Amino acid sequence: MDFEHSAKAREYIERVRRFMADEIEPMESEYHRRMGELDNPWVVLPEIEELKAKAREQGLWNMFLPEPEYGPGLSNLEYAPVAELSGRSAIAPEIFNCNAPDTGNMEVLVKYGDEAQQERWLKPLLAGEIRSGFAMTEPDVASSDATNMEATCELDGDEVVLNGRKWWTTNAGHPNCEVFIFMGVTDPEAGRHSRHSMVLVPVDAPGVRIERMLTSMGHLDAPSGHGEVVFDQVRVPRENIIAGPGRGFEIAQGRLGPGRIHHCMRLIGAAEMALERMCERSLSREAFGKPLADLGGNRERIAEARVAIEQARLLTLKAAWMIDEKGVKAAMSEISQIKVVAPRVALEVIDMAMQMHGGGGLSQDYPLAAAWAGARSLRLADGPDEVHRALIAKMELARYKNP
Ligand SMILES: Cc1cc2nc3c(=O)[nH]c(=O)nc-3n(C[C@H](O)[C@H](O)[C@H](O)COP(=O)(O)OP(=O)(O)OC[C@H]3O[C@@H](n4cnc5c(N)ncnc54)[C@H](O)[C@@H]3O)c2cc1C
Repeated sequence: MDFEHSAKAREYIERVRRFMADEIEPMESEYHRRMGELDNPWVVLPEIEELKAKAREQGLWNMFLPEPEYGPGLSNLEYAPVAELSGRSAIAPEIFNCNAPDTGNMEVLVKYGDEAQQERWLKPLLAGEIRSGFAMTEPDVASSDATNMEATCELDGDEVVLNGRKWWTTNAGHPNCEVFIFMGVTDPEAGRHSRHSMVLVPVDAPGVRIERMLTSMGHLDAPSGHGEVVFDQVRVPRENIIAGPGRGFEIAQGRLGPGRIHHCMRLIGAAEMALERMCERSLSREAFGKPLADLGGNRERIAEARVAIEQARLLTLKAAWMIDEKGVKAAMSEISQIKVVAPRVALEVIDMAMQMHGGGGLSQDYPLAAAWAGARSLRLADGPDEVHRALIAKMELARYKNP
């Protein structure tokens, strides 16, 4: 394994670092302040579209896709440090058109979409003109098991009829969200892994109803948000099924390979941001006649944070390298390992940074509380920790079977 940054990775790290320092960091706290004061936060403020246009012009766009026809064509290993930088900010991923869940949905359309689906949905997603949601999780069934999904998409001649209730559909509140990828049962008689399909559903199709927006740890995460969405006798053409009926489970698994570790890359960035702020705060504020850094176990905490981040980064890079070199299937254990480790490390480090900031750390004046809530959600989103541990253990134990 060689984790030395390639010349291309170094170039993009530098360009993204400069863009973040010059364009995003100077406006971000004011952006959040303005968003927080809006009566209706389900809007895109003009500065976001302006920055998206600038990022696109500079080629800092769609960097998550390794295929060179869609962007700079960075490998997963090359993208990791770039995504890490964007993870320092809550808005940078969308400005670079590299935000979940659109990234995962674009990956699905690149990999499984036919020409007409790519033309209709992938093209505007790649251009950042529209947003999309992934409607898999259901309130009424344990959705960490993707084969449990009960919503239906029944074939009826040239059409598919969708019924069911989904929740946690991220992006449902975004004013530019135009399409959902819906997972439902097409053939209840088929095996558990081939009874579901994924269907492209325009958000304005008759029968699609966003019933409410959920908060995550008290945050609305506007303007993207997380919706509870009802699908009531929604009819779409049969050609909206992605890759044909019965491929839903396979697509759900495939969707979450690189996408899962993009979250981890960004979490390392959030942890770095928190450690940086923890160090600055601990040196610039005094209590009991000493800088905070020199009180109690604060130096120990700073050291532990550095150790934890370095470990998590190395495991992220290993998972990225495995995907590039050996494919998602061979990297399954590493992907699950880092999916367990990265949120835990980010939570620990951000928590220590909040503590060092005293009361301010929990307020909206610093990005720490929101970053903590985001990291906490990633112990569930894209599969709870326990499911990832179960997979790691299964693969570990499989080595000892029938020696
Ligand atoms: C902020 C946020 C954004 C999200 N975005 C999306 C989205 O865009 N689209 C979407 O479809 N979903 C989304 N989700 C939903 C998320 O993927 C699910 O919450 C997750 O998969 C768990 O499903 P569940 O909530 O039904 O929990 P359940 O399946 O009911 O599981 C509950 C708990 O049971 C335990 N458990 C489950 N399996 C095991 C096991 N094998 N071993 C031991 N314990 C186990 C775990 O503690 C688990 O947390 C999002 C969630 C959050 C919080």
